[in-house]
Amino acid sequence: MDDASLTNRPDLSAHWMPFTANRQFKADPRLFVAAKGLYYRTEDGREVLDGTSGLWCVNAGHGRPEIAEAVHRQLLTLDFAPSFQMGHPIAFELATRLAALTPPGLDRLFFTNSGSEAVETALKIALAYHRARGEGQRTRFIGRERAYHGVNFGGMSVGGLVNNRRTFVTLPGVDHLRATHDPARSAFSRGLPTQGAEFADELERLVALHGPETIAAVIVEPVAGSGGVLPPPVGYLERLRSICDHHGLLLVFDEVITGFGRLGAPFAAEYFGVTPDMITMAKGVTNAAIPMGAVAAKREIHDGLMKGPQSAIEFFHGYTYSAHPVACAAALATLDIYERERLFEHAAAMAPVFEAAVHGLRERGPVVDIRNLGLMAAIDLAPRPGAVGARGYEALVRAYQAGLLIRVTGDTIALSPPLPVGEPEIADLSRILGDVLESLD
Ligand code: PLP
Repeated sequence: MDDASLTNRPDLSAHWMPFTANRQFKADPRLFVAAKGLYYRTEDGREVLDGTSGLWCVNAGHGRPEIAEAVHRQLLTLDFAPSFQMGHPIAFELATRLAALTPPGLDRLFFTNSGSEAVETALKIALAYHRARGEGQRTRFIGRERAYHGVNFGGMSVGGLVNNRRTFVTLPGVDHLRATHDPARSAFSRGLPTQGAEFADELERLVALHGPETIAAVIVEPVAGSGGVLPPPVGYLERLRSICDHHGLLLVFDEVITGFGRLGAPFAAEYFGVTPDMITMAKGVTNAAIPMGAVAAKREIHDGLMKGPQSAIEFFHGYTYSAHPVACAAALATLDIYERERLFEHAAAMAPVFEAAVHGLRERGPVVDIRNLGLMAAIDLAPRPGAVGARGYEALVRAYQAGLLIRVTGDTIALSPPLPVGEPEIADLSRILGDVLESLD
C-alpha cells in the first residue's frame, strides 16, 4: 500500500455514495485502503476485523491471490467477448460448475452482473415461462415484507422495505406475505424459530384473493438478510413450497446472501432441503472481486422456453456483461478456493461457536432480540426514544473505532463474518461488540 494514501485524502464531494448518509459520512469519513484475510486497513493504518464479509460478499476472505492471478491472466488472454450470439469457453465451464453446486434439477444458468439484475432476470424468466406454456395471464408476483431483492424496479416492487419503495413507483400486480419475525413468541431464538410456520398460509389467502391463475411466482429470501437476518420458522419454507406446487406458482429463492456457504451449505435450498424453481445468486460467486450475478433455473423452465424455429432468440433479455470473461475467471478461482479449503464445511463447524458468541451479548446493553443461522446474525437494539437509528449508528461508529466492522440498518446490527473465521476472531468480535453495546446510552 502507498503510504501517501494515508495523508492524501481525496476530495470527497463528487462521489454520490449509495445507501449512505452522504453529508454525515463526508463530515466524518471512514475509508478503507487495503484488506487481507479477515481484516481491513483504514487510512490511518488501523486494522478492522471484517464482521460483515464486506457487504455479505467476501465469503473467502480478502485479497486472495488465486483470484487476482486468474483475473490478471484472463484480462491478458481474452478481456471481453460479445455476450450476444458469441461465446467464450469459461462461461460454459462456470455454468457447469455452478450447476453442480445448485440443487439437482436447477442446472441452467443465466448470468448477470449483480443481485439486483439476477432478481429482474428471474422475474422475467417466470413471465416468459408461463407465457410459453400458454398461461400468459400469470403476471402477478408475491414478495414479502422486510424483503430485500435489490434496487431495480422489479426487485424493489417485490421487496418489502418501505424506505426503498416510498419515493418510487412500484410494479402493479405485486402483493406481499407478512414478514416472519415474531418477537412476541420467538425473541432470542437460536437458529430457526419454532413458532410461525403458519405464516406461510397467508400465501393461500393471497392466492384466493387474486386467483392462482394470475400469479407467476413467489420470491423470498430463505433467510431474510438486509431486512434484519430473519431465519424462517421451522416448516415455513416447506409449506410455501407445497402451496406453490398446488397452484402452479414458481418459487424463487433469492440466495444473493445465503448462497456460497453462508449457512454452511452451498445454498440455503440444500441446507433446508427445499428446492425452489429458481435461485438468484451474486456476491460470493466471485468473492466480490468482480461484479457478477446469476439465476439458476430448473431445466424444465429453460426447456420450456427453447421453442420455435432454431434461428429464433428464445428469451429477449441479457446484459453486455452477462458472463463477462473476467468475472467468470474470478468465479472459477473462487469456487476452487471454496472447494480446496472446504470453507462451507468450516462455516458449518463454526456456526455453533458463532451462535454462542452472539447470544452471549444478550445482557451487554440495550439489546431486545438476537437471531442467528449459519454465519449470519442480527442484534436488535431498543431504539432511543425519539431517535430511531441513533443507537445503531453510534454502534457502527464505535465498533469501527474499536476495530470491528459491523453492518447497521436502523437499530439492527447485522453480522456475517467471512467463512474462514476461527474461534479467536469470533472471540474478538464478541469482545469488541460487547464493549460497544455496553457503551451505548
Ligand atoms: N437480493 C438480496 C437477497 C440481497 O441481499 C441483495 C443485496 O444485498 C440483492 C438482491 C441485490 O444485490 P446487488 O446489490 O448486487 O444488486
